[in-house]
Amino acid sequence: MSFFDEIGRYKLSDLSAEVLAKTEREVDVALAKSRNDEQLDLGDFMALISPKAAPYISEMAELARKYTRRRFGNTVNMYVPLYLTNSCSNQCRYCGFAINNKFKRRILNAEETRLECEAIRKMGYENILIVSGENAQRCGIDYFREMVPVVGEYASYMMMEVQPLDTHEYAELKQLGVDAVMVYQETY
Ligand code: SF4
Repeated sequence: MSFFDEIGRYKLSDLSAEVLAKTEREVDVALAKSRNDEQLDLGDFMALISPKAAPYISEMAELARKYTRRRFGNTVNMYVPLYLTNSCSNQCRYCGFAINNKFKRRILNAEETRLECEAIRKMGYENILIVSGENAQRCGIDYFREMVPVVGEYASYMMMEVQPLDTHEYAELKQLGVDAVMVYQETY
């Protein structure tokens, strides 16, 4: 079963109610499992993010630190964001790219993208995060199809943080050499 299938089994509204209903006892059980290196399930996770877990934040932070160190070690992953465009049709209040901010927008062409990549390479980076505003009409899959191979010539690891795409478009990006995609939903 894929992650998509798995997550589709849950209804957000039901999950919220379940989280709010978690008891101190369930928090204790989840914490005990975590202390003993036992596998936690979704119910345990809901207990740990419930209001009843608030008094245990410090202990959870310590446990999270322990497991992060164990899994990843003392590593720092450096990457460079490459902004293909600051053109965006959204208006997130915290973002300078929001459509209601009046300034000249740029969409890099292939040659400009190559120049950016060469500058990044000169800095010694090969881990590149392709970023753009959300302009599905002018910077959708057709545009990415043209730019990704250019960036791929300079990247040993290539990530993308652009607007949500269709499944077949993600599949195409994978074929074009993209190693990872990120979709953020930020709330403030
Ligand atoms: S969608 Fe992204 S780029 Fe566009 S305004 Fe929101 S945060 Fe900024």
